[in-house]
Amino acid sequence: MIADFSPAFKSAIATGGASYANAMKVGFQANRRFWEEDAHIYGGISWTERDITQIWYPAVGFHQSKGVIVGAYIWDNPISKRLAPLAPAERLRQAIADGETLHPGYGREVSVASGVSIAWEKIPYSRGGWIEWEESDRETAYRTLSEADDSIYLAGEHMSYLTGWQEGAILSALQVVQKISTQLQAISA
Ligand SMILES: Cc1cc2nc3c(=O)[nH]c(=O)nc-3n(C[C@H](O)[C@H](O)[C@H](O)COP(=O)(O)OP(=O)(O)OC[C@H]3O[C@@H](n4cnc5c(N)ncnc54)[C@H](O)[C@@H]3O)c2cc1C
Repeated sequence: MIADFSPAFKSAIATGGASYANAMKVGFQANRRFWEEDAHIYGGISWTERDITQIWYPAVGFHQSKGVIVGAYIWDNPISKRLAPLAPAERLRQAIADGETLHPGYGREVSVASGVSIAWEKIPYSRGGWIEWEESDRETAYRTLSEADDSIYLAGEHMSYLTGWQEGAILSALQVVQKISTQLQAISA
């Protein structure tokens, strides 16, 4: 790590950063809203026992000509660790094969050309979906990182008890703004 944080802060970052959820998603644009036309599905989620884990159907645009579905939402690390290193087209092919078991004919409705896949561990500056703290680290690394290191404050879902949710990120940001405000008031008093 190239930074002039204090040794304690650096070591706490190394602890917390070690464990991130390797979330992965696949999306497809379909030329036909086959889930509505054929299966009378209007929004919601299908749970599967395949690697794709879930298929999400749009809750808007009912009966329009095209539609976008989530063809996989994976947060089980062993699955995403296996799929993330694959080329995006191969991930999509596997997602199509999994979807076929739930929606026969799926492979005619969605395609590699109309799909996109994101493996968060591959995204620069994220390298993971969300942090997963060990309970024991909450008392040590988390506590250290909750305090400012000189003038540096950390804010985000990773510095909350609602990790993996926007609410956690917002609560953390509010807390940091309050701390900075208190510090400024103390300086100007
Ligand atoms: C697959 C998935 C599904 C989710 N579903 C939901 C949901 O349904 N509901 C919900 O509430 N939350 C959900 N979340 C969680 C939610 O997206 C996060 O909790 C929230 O976005 C975290 O906000 P943040 O500001 O902490 O971090 P981020 O939104 O990750 O923002 C951090 C930003 O900092 C940038 N950055 C990092 N390092 C640097 C650098 N060195 N220089 C410049 N920029 C940098 C990053 O590129 C990024 O843009 C989901 C997350 C994932 C991955």
